Amino acid sequence: MSVFDDLVGQEAAVAVLTAAAASAARVVAGDTEGTGGMTHAWLFTGPPGSGRSVAARGLAAALQCPDQGCGHCAVCHQVLGGTHADVAVVVPEGLSLGVEEVRRIVGHAARSPVAGRWQVTVIEDADRMPDYAANALLKAIEEPPPRGVMLLCAPSVEDLLPTIRSRCRLVPLRTPPAAAVAEVLVRRDGVDPPMAAFAAQAAQGHIGRARRLARDENARTERQDVLALPRSLQGVGSALQAAKELVDAAQAEAGRLTKDRDADERDALSTALGGGATGKGYTGSAPRGGAGALKELERKQKSRGTRASRDALDRALVDLAAFYRDVLTLQLGTGTPLVHGDLATQASTIAQATTPEATLRRIEAVLGCRTAVEGNVAPLLAVEAMALALRSG
Ligand SMILES: [Zn+2]
Repeated sequence: MSVFDDLVGQEAAVAVLTAAAASAARVVAGDTEGTGGMTHAWLFTGPPGSGRSVAARGLAAALQCPDQGCGHCAVCHQVLGGTHADVAVVVPEGLSLGVEEVRRIVGHAARSPVAGRWQVTVIEDADRMPDYAANALLKAIEEPPPRGVMLLCAPSVEDLLPTIRSRCRLVPLRTPPAAAVAEVLVRRDGVDPPMAAFAAQAAQGHIGRARRLARDENARTERQDVLALPRSLQGVGSALQAAKELVDAAQAEAGRLTKDRDADERDALSTALGGGATGKGYTGSAPRGGAGALKELERKQKSRGTRASRDALDRALVDLAAFYRDVLTLQLGTGTPLVHGDLATQASTIAQATTPEATLRRIEAVLGCRTAVEGNVAPLLAVEAMALALRSG
C-alpha cells in the first residue's frame, strides 16, 4: 500500500514522485551527497479528473511520512485527511485566488516545519490566480526556505506565468484509460463491472465523474437530458428553449452540490459569533464583527456557486462535444469505440442525415461555447449561440 495507490493509470508520474520522496528522505537524514538536492517547487498538470490534486497530496504525504508515503501510518492519515500541521492545502473555491490570500499562503509557507521535515503548501487550481496574485507567489518560489515545498496544480503549463512554471519541476498526468478507471470503480467502490465499464467510458477518463455516474441516479438522468439536446433543435424556438434548459439544469445541479455546505457554514458562523469564539484555522481572517463576517461568507458562497454552475455547464458541454465526436466516428467509419455507446442509435441517425463537415462545425460550436463561458460570457448567451449553430449545422 502507498499514498500513490489512488493515482489511476499514472505509472510514469508515480515513479518520479516515489524517487523524489526517497531523495527528500535522504535530505532529512542529513545526507545530501548525490541526491541532487531537493526540488522545492512542483507543478502537476493534467485534464480535470486525472488526479492532479491526488498526486500533489500524495507527494505531500510521502515527504512527511517516515516511511516515504506508506499510506497507513498516522502521518499519512493526517496529511491525506488535511490535518497535518506542516501541510497547507489551498483550494480556490471562487472564480479566482486573491492577492491577499496568496500573501497569507506565502507567509505561512515561510515558517519552519513543526515536525522538522518539510513545510508543504499545495495550491489546487493554481490557474485561478490572476497575474498580480501569481507575482506575489513568485518570490516564495524563487527563494524557497530550505525546508519549504510548493506543490501547484493546473490543467496545463500554459495556465501559469512563464516565470513561475520555469522554476517548477513538471509532473504531467495523462487522461487515464477507461479500463483502468473501471477497474478502480469495481475494486475500490464495489460497483458492478457492467456499470463500471459504462461510467468509465461515459466519463472520458474523469475518475470523480465516473464514480458519480456509477453511483448516482440523478447524475445519469442529467447526462441523458444533456445528450437529448441534439434531438431538440428542430426550430429556432425549440433550440433557444433547449439552451435555456441546459443552463437551468447546470444551475440546479450546482445548487444541489453546494446547498448543504452553504447551510452548514452559516450555522457554524452564527454559532461562532454567538459563542464569541471563532476557532480560526489557517485560511480565515478574523471577522470584524458579525455583519462583516456574514457579508464575507455570502460573498464567498456566491463566488463558489457561480464557479460550481460553470463547472456543471462545462461538464455538460464536454458530454455534448463527445456526442458529436461519436457522430463523426460513425460518419468516417473509423471503428473507434463510442464515448456514449448507449446512444449509438441516436448518433447513427444524425450521422446518416448530415455530413462530416457539418459535424466538425458542430463540434467547433460546442468547444467555442466552452471557451466563451470560461471567458466570462453570460452562460445563457453563449449556450443560445451554440444551440443555433448546432441547429444550422
Ligand atoms: Zn505513512
